[in-house]
Amino acid sequence: MNINMTVRCDECSNHTNCRCGMSNRDHQPLKFTCRNCGSTIGITFDVQGADSLDTVALAAMLSSKNKRKPPKLNQGVRHRVTGATEVEGESPFKPGIDFVDLHLDFPVVFGEYEMGNTPYMQASMRSGAERAAFHRDRLGLVNAQYKKYPQVIKLIGMYNSGFHGPFAVLARKSFKVEVRSKRLEDINAALYTVVSHYVLPFTLPDTSQGASRKFTHTVLDLLQSKREATGAFLQKLYDTEYLVGLQRDCLKIYKPIFHAEMPLRPALFLDLDPSYVEGQVPMRVSTNDFEEYKEVYKDMAEIYSRQLVLVAGINNLIKRGDHDAFASGVWVTAKGKDQAPDGLEDYADVALGNKPRFLDDPWFTLDPVAQDNKLRNGIAHAKIDYNEVTQKITYYPKLEGMQRASKEEIFLLDYMRRMLALFREVHRLHHLIKCLNYAILLEPGASLIKKPPGV
Ligand SMILES: [Zn+2]
Repeated sequence: MNINMTVRCDECSNHTNCRCGMSNRDHQPLKFTCRNCGSTIGITFDVQGADSLDTVALAAMLSSKNKRKPPKLNQGVRHRVTGATEVEGESPFKPGIDFVDLHLDFPVVFGEYEMGNTPYMQASMRSGAERAAFHRDRLGLVNAQYKKYPQVIKLIGMYNSGFHGPFAVLARKSFKVEVRSKRLEDINAALYTVVSHYVLPFTLPDTSQGASRKFTHTVLDLLQSKREATGAFLQKLYDTEYLVGLQRDCLKIYKPIFHAEMPLRPALFLDLDPSYVEGQVPMRVSTNDFEEYKEVYKDMAEIYSRQLVLVAGINNLIKRGDHDAFASGVWVTAKGKDQAPDGLEDYADVALGNKPRFLDDPWFTLDPVAQDNKLRNGIAHAKIDYNEVTQKITYYPKLEGMQRASKEEIFLLDYMRRMLALFREVHRLHHLIKCLNYAILLEPGASLIKKPPGV
């Protein structure tokens, strides 16, 4: 159901007609920017069981004293307007007044009001009814889970800080997950049971499972066919504590993803929209702004860059039987210098944009959408502008002194989609870390680990 209302901007008195499409989330903070003065205007709905809104509206109409003049449909649905004041508007909306469509769950297009052509209808037309239903189910899971995100984040924090006792208590109390023993593998098992359950709606489950199987298979295969060389690789990861540090940082990405749950919703819909072509149709997100999610992308790209070291190590093992041996001749400068890294440590310092070059015929296919080094550079060098009205992001990927030549433009929705793709890739490679950790913890890798004396 949709709720129509007209608001007057508190700053400039500009009127905006709003069509608010209802999500099933019980708290729905919708936001947009006044087209005339750029102020943020918020409309927040608090509805228990929002899918029963039609019933609420009908009840309000039936209970109305004057049956000839029923109350507006908004009646009976609690909402709060900030940055503007709700005023009497024309019904139906007339052209000539600014208009916004707002919906937490779907991308919304700019344009004039068209009765009945709601964001939900438009999205369903693009994706088909079956996929729209899948989107609804997936968001249903988010709606059911989001209030527990703080508990999941707390659990991850306890794990990362080594508070295994309180971790076990919280896992049992909040998630009904028993930690079977004090052994790290059992603590890990409990942690990942909880994390994967809550992360599920944001991932592509088939891809995650497929990746997990592939990693296990690849590592087991290497442990059998190249036992000594693989042992040396695991030993290196253990001695340098590379895996431990990387796992800790991977676990930190879930908090900002949970935090971005609302603006990620329309990006999730793009999984199901075959007509979507990035940057072609300006579509908006009906909630929080871009600034909050800038750092998230940068941090995830940093982790991704470190994860690629593991992909490279395994690639080198498979191809050349030595984790440090990179293929020569894949990138030779004009002066004839071979840029191939000397070993994994050298590779770790290679810029993210250049890292995939040294993965010759890689065993693991990287997602091209996740590898947006230009965007990462734009953010890292603070060369990025955001227009709150159009939600257009302009970034300048190259360091060019005072000049800002080659610019790229995307919309916030495209950005959220790229952030989602990067998150999925980091999450997918998190499985590789789990798998390598397991190989170190358990046999047959364990026999290769030289424990320091007295431990
Ligand atoms: Zn205004």
